[in-house]
Amino acid sequence: MDSLEEVAQAVRDCADCPLHRGRTNAVPGEGSPWAELMFIGEGPGFHEDRQGRPFVGPAGQLLEGLLASIGTNRNDVFIANMVKCRPPDNRDPEPSEIAACKKYLDRQIELIDPKLIVTLGRFSLGRFFPGESITRARGKLREKDGRHIFPVLHPAAALRRPELRKTLVEDFRAIADILEADTLPETIAPEPEGEAPKGPPAEQLNIFGAPAAPPPKPPGNATEEPADAPAPEPPGRNDDPQQLSLL
Ligand code: SF4
Repeated sequence: MDSLEEVAQAVRDCADCPLHRGRTNAVPGEGSPWAELMFIGEGPGFHEDRQGRPFVGPAGQLLEGLLASIGTNRNDVFIANMVKCRPPDNRDPEPSEIAACKKYLDRQIELIDPKLIVTLGRFSLGRFFPGESITRARGKLREKDGRHIFPVLHPAAALRRPELRKTLVEDFRAIADILEADTLPETIAPEPEGEAPKGPPAEQLNIFGAPAAPPPKPPGNATEEPADAPAPEPPGRNDDPQQLSLL
């Protein structure tokens, strides 16, 4: 795979995991091959599966607004997902599916070689920092395998919890500051993988790290967010009307 188009074609032809059976369209990702900024979400949702494009539903509209707020747009960045085919019924992708799809995202990162990777939500955070809490990790510049990583909440979390929009807006401002810097600001040291977070249990912290009651879980939602997340974030494919009906 020597170009992004070759990666995209390989994705469209791929049958390396069971997700290929249910897809309408594979969603390889899209944007500028020269992007300084690369976003990684979880996987395609209803609208993405229909159109074969990433982040085209309500969460995508919010992402576009956030991009506009820092003077850029989706044509100037690259937007990809951890898995390229929609999991059935919007379930979480299985570890084996993420592993099978990893080669495509790895190659996209190599080819684009972005200045900054922004992970959207807990799943893509876990690609770089397994086991870490999005609540704790968001808004902090990190380094992993020679890449600069900046985790933020998934836009869909802010669709479900409007009070989280402020946090997203602030984190996008920080992204703009990072990109404008001639030298990237100092990163924080990565937490050792698998180390339990210090302090109160994560489920007792709100997004600002202050003690808070655990968020209520939506009734009957089979894809509940782990207790350490600030919102019961639907699985990156939250553009699905069924998910949005929970808002
Ligand atoms: S999710 Fe990835 S590995 Fe699975 S079929 Fe789609 S492109 Fe292939």
